[in-house]
Amino acid sequence: MQGGLGLPDREYYLSDSEQMRKVRSKYETHIATMMKLAGFSDSDARAARIVELEHAIAQVHRSLPENEDIHKANNTWSSADFSAQAPGLDWSEYFRGAGLDKVTSFIVWQPEAFKGEAALVASSPLETWKDWLAFHRIEESAGVLPKAFAEERFAFFGKELSGTEQQRPRWERGVFVVDGLLGDAVGQIYVQRYFSPAAKTQAQAMVANLIAAFRQRIEALTWMDPATKAEAEAKLSTLYVGVGYPETWHDYSNYEVKANDIFGNIWRGNLSEYQRRIARLGKPVDRKEWSMTPQTVNAVNLPLQNALNFPAAILQPPFYDPQAPAAANYGAIGTVIGHEISHTFDTEGSTFDSKGRLRNWWTPDDLKHFDAATAQLAAQYDTYKPFPDLAINGKQTLAENIADVAGISAAYDGYRASLAGKTAPTQDGFSGDQQFFLAFGQNWGEKTREAALRQQVMTDPHSPGEYRACTVRNIDAWYGAFDVQPGEKLYLTPSERVRIW
Ligand SMILES: [Zn+2]
Repeated sequence: MQGGLGLPDREYYLSDSEQMRKVRSKYETHIATMMKLAGFSDSDARAARIVELEHAIAQVHRSLPENEDIHKANNTWSSADFSAQAPGLDWSEYFRGAGLDKVTSFIVWQPEAFKGEAALVASSPLETWKDWLAFHRIEESAGVLPKAFAEERFAFFGKELSGTEQQRPRWERGVFVVDGLLGDAVGQIYVQRYFSPAAKTQAQAMVANLIAAFRQRIEALTWMDPATKAEAEAKLSTLYVGVGYPETWHDYSNYEVKANDIFGNIWRGNLSEYQRRIARLGKPVDRKEWSMTPQTVNAVNLPLQNALNFPAAILQPPFYDPQAPAAANYGAIGTVIGHEISHTFDTEGSTFDSKGRLRNWWTPDDLKHFDAATAQLAAQYDTYKPFPDLAINGKQTLAENIADVAGISAAYDGYRASLAGKTAPTQDGFSGDQQFFLAFGQNWGEKTREAALRQQVMTDPHSPGEYRACTVRNIDAWYGAFDVQPGEKLYLTPSERVRIW
């Protein structure tokens, strides 16, 4: 994949907005400060040349929206193709150094960036490349260099770029380092302490109920072609759902940790992880490989593996509590599980088949129907305004909003099925349905600074929590549960409620 930039994206280099010009000038000052701290002479001149080089790199990068087009990324190159297609870099020496000299075929996500960057190797002075490499090595290690480096790094990337007012306390940064380098070792202790086998069994049962609910919804769809349904069924029945923690743990036996060598610990830790990944090349795909540690509060759908991961840390209150009523668990974690399952079948999921191969398995008619139904949802979210001058972009957040509607629908079905015809017990005076929707709303309680929220609205594919909670407006059962009437603020007429799955 393309790389080489210090700022978050090519737009930071190419945009001529006032804000971005200011960021670039502060970045250059930051580079000069770091070089000076590290003892380099002529730090201002070196900084100017480094920014100039990164600007040239940014010009050959693909843009964010273009990068999201997975079909444009599916380019296979043999190792010989690199010298022919992207001359300028000594590729065989590069592959040898990277431990990739035995690999014969590569996926090149952005061919034009490979061509462009390799050409820059020949056209830019070697001294500039050396400075560029030195700066990035210093920057990357700033957290464990003398305090002045860490503070300078935070002043630019934390304060200037993200509006964060205070650096995290040193002990917290220490925890992040350990978690980053020894994630599975920390995870094993975390799981022992906070995730019982009973909690795992119960969460797995919930996943099974949700998959069954999804299967029924797909079977009942009138718009989907039977052949498409058959592939959807194949994806569902081969889906690997990881609950809590992986079945095997990473082996750290080749990683030497020394009590008095933090820089070396990080260096050796990164190297050990790199070697672990290199060793997997050429072996069969391990669909049970996890992409998150058990102590991560998140969940993920991995289309290339046709797999889901639900780490133990999201299977905790308020998302999930083995002691809580089923209604609350289905409303909270159940809707998250349903959300991730639905990504298997949406516009992203429709491009990967049950074996994780890039293949469009939807018919054009299916896609047309899906796009029409979802346009209504995009319009609904366009009306939400976190700020008087800034609305949610219904298109940018569409895929995630669809998954929210799908997730809550399937979780509600799964919850009703779990009652097996019985009436749910009331809790604090709330009926089962009320508990379900309250738990869903509580998933999305959050607090965000204005600058960060604005940045989220402009760049994040997820809607802010407050609006994700409003997904209930599309669910008929929510109207019954709280007796929501026409004229009330969140009321939608039945025809305005969006039903996709
Ligand atoms: Zn999602």
